[in-house]
Amino acid sequence: MSELIDPFGRRIDYLRLSVTDRCDLRCFYCMPEGFKDFEEPEHWLTVAELERMLGIMADMGLRRVRLTGGEPLVRKGVVEIARTLGGMSGVRDIALSTNATRLAPMARDLRAAGVNRLNVSLDTLDAARFKQITQGKLEKVLDGLMAAKDAGFSPIKINMVVMKGINEADVESVLEFCIAHGFVLRLIETMPMGDTGRDAVDHYVSLQTIKQRLADRYTLLPVINPVDGAGPARYLQIAGTETQIGFITPMSEHFCGTCNRVRLAVDGTMYLCLGQEHHFSFRPLLRKGIPDDELKAALISAIGLKPERHEFQDKPEKVIRFMSMTGG
Ligand code: SAM
Ligand code: SF4
Repeated sequence: MSELIDPFGRRIDYLRLSVTDRCDLRCFYCMPEGFKDFEEPEHWLTVAELERMLGIMADMGLRRVRLTGGEPLVRKGVVEIARTLGGMSGVRDIALSTNATRLAPMARDLRAAGVNRLNVSLDTLDAARFKQITQGKLEKVLDGLMAAKDAGFSPIKINMVVMKGINEADVESVLEFCIAHGFVLRLIETMPMGDTGRDAVDHYVSLQTIKQRLADRYTLLPVINPVDGAGPARYLQIAGTETQIGFITPMSEHFCGTCNRVRLAVDGTMYLCLGQEHHFSFRPLLRKGIPDDELKAALISAIGLKPERHEFQDKPEKVIRFMSMTGG
């Protein structure tokens, strides 16, 4: 069987599938204010095209898919997409990254469709600061989170981008919120994705500093069974609680050596690395109706383009696309 193994011997079994590049928020580190240069709907891969492409990838070893965006819940039919993936043999894990503004009415359907893991972005619990960062309403996110908890999602992970001078002081309050609700907290370093990300990097703070600060207040224990075996987060347990805290440190300590993932944008472009521009366009091939063996060969060529590592530190100017195109 042909497998998805890159030139550095890394087995690719994880796909981040961006089902839209649109979003109902405008987190300043992700998407520029007033940005409108979105993909045309006729360029979006259809559910049938996704089913074909991911079905072939599953034959070649794809095991995990994360639905992301943009905001995946603004794509009509996202529940159907999840259900289609859920029915695919081989794919055993379907996760969703969302800002949760639209999650409340959809949580149960998503879970029934087969989504088994949920990450929600939440950078602060202060409504005014939330508005400043995202242009949106905190209340909707909290409603979405509670609906997800009621729907039985577990674990629920909170993704918090930590920024100096913006929300650095909010880490403890978000952590207490996670402890109270049984959520996992994952702190993320700001990355220089597109012009917006590069500007936000002015607010960069190393998570090593935050970890030391937390260690003054909490006892941080090593974790034997991390909640997320496949991801780049390094977890610690908050002693006396069920809560784990993960540190995602692409800047201060990269994790490219164990990278197991590629990204598929809504227009069918596969990006081989979050921090590089190497890509391969599948939409023309899918629309030409090429046979399965040619699609497999194209996938092997695409994976052959995967670079060894990102260069966020040495060449922060390198990535021109915004994070919202590939979904983190
Ligand atoms: N809209 C969904 C959400 O916000 O969770 C999914 C897509 S969003 C692009 C995925 C993740 O990327 C979010 O957790 C967000 O905080 C993170 N992100 C976006 N821009 C970033 C940047 N410049 N640096 C670090 N993380 C970023
Ligand atoms: Fe939208 Fe997510 Fe980007 Fe925020 S981080 S603008 S919610 S895609």
